[in-house]
Amino acid sequence: QAKQTDKQQAMTFSEDRKARIDRQLLLERDLLTGIVNKQFELHFQPILAAESLKVIRLESLLRWKHPLLGYIPPVEFIPLAESSQAIVEIGYWVLFQACKAAKHLHNEGHTVQVAVNVSVIQLEQDHFAEDVIQILHKTGLPPEQLELEMTESAVMSFGRAPEAVQKLTEYGVAIALDDFGTGYSSLSYLRKLPIQSIKIDKAFVTELTEGTSDKTICAAITQLGHHLGLRVVAEGVENAEQVAILRMLGCDELQGYYFSKPLSWPDLLAYLSTRKAEG
Ligand code: C2E
Ligand code: MG
Ligand code: MG
Ligand code: MG
Repeated sequence: QAKQTDKQQAMTFSEDRKARIDRQLLLERDLLTGIVNKQFELHFQPILAAESLKVIRLESLLRWKHPLLGYIPPVEFIPLAESSQAIVEIGYWVLFQACKAAKHLHNEGHTVQVAVNVSVIQLEQDHFAEDVIQILHKTGLPPEQLELEMTESAVMSFGRAPEAVQKLTEYGVAIALDDFGTGYSSLSYLRKLPIQSIKIDKAFVTELTEGTSDKTICAAITQLGHHLGLRVVAEGVENAEQVAILRMLGCDELQGYYFSKPLSWPDLLAYLSTRKAEG
C-alpha cells in the first residue's frame, strides 16, 4: 500500500515537472512574439514623498497577457526572458515606453520621474548605456527624470555593468539599488557605488510593526543610507502603521498598495489628474 503511494507520488511529481517544463518552454518561445503582438503592457506605481505625500516618481512594472495562458506574473517570465536573452529586446521596449510615458506626462504638466527595472543581462550588453541615452534623445525626456532600478549583484558584477552604470550616472540618470537587504550587500562597496537611493526590500516592510526585528532592520538600513548621503525608499507599504513607523524612522519615500497599486496607463492619467485637482 505504502509502495503504491510512493509510486503514485513519483508519477505525479514527474508529471508536475513535465507540465512545468512544457509551460516554461512555451512561455520562452512566445516572449519575443509577445512584443510584436502587443501582449505586453506597462503599469505604473506611484512613489510618494514620505512627508508631503506628493507623487514624485512612478515605477514602471511590466505586465504580460499570454493569448492562451492569460496573465503571467513578472516573477515567472522575467527569469525566462533573462535566460533566453529576450530580456534585451523586451527591456529596450520597456525603457522606450517608460520614457515616452514620462515625457507625455511632463507635457501635460505632471512633474514626475520614471523608474525602470533593469536586469543585469541588459547591463552587460555592449551598448546598454548608449541605448539608454539614445532613448532619452528620441523621447526627449531629460536624463534627470529617469531612474534605473537594479539589484546589488547587478551593480557590483564583474562584467561591463559597472562601467555602464558609471557612464549613465555621469549623463545624469539616477540609479537606485532595488530589493536592498536581501542580496549579498557588501557594505564597504556601497560607499563607492554611483547610486542615489536604496529601496528597502518589501520583505522587511510586509510584517513591519512596533517591536519587531523588521523595524530594527528598516531603522538600520535608513540610517546607513542617510549616512552615505542616499535617499531611502520603502516598498510594499500596505497599512497606516507601516507608514507611521517608516516616517518616524526617517524614510524618504514610500511605495505600496496602501497608496496605490500599479496602474494601467488610463488609470494612471485619471489618478494623477484627480490628485492635481485636489491639490
Ligand atoms: P520590484 O522591482 O521589486 O517591484 C516591486 C514589486 O512589488 C512589484 O511586483 C509590485 O507590484 C509589488 N508591490 C508593490 N507594492 C506592493 C505592496 O504593497 N504589497 C505587495 N505584496 N507587493 C507590492 P511585480 O509587478 O509583480 O514585479 C515583480 C518583480 O518583477 C519586480 O520587483 C522586478 O524585479 C521584476 N520586474 C517587473 N517589471 C520589470 C521590467 O520591466 N524589467 C525587469 N528587468 N524586471 C521587472
Ligand atoms: Mg523595482
Ligand atoms: Mg524591489
Ligand atoms: Mg522585488
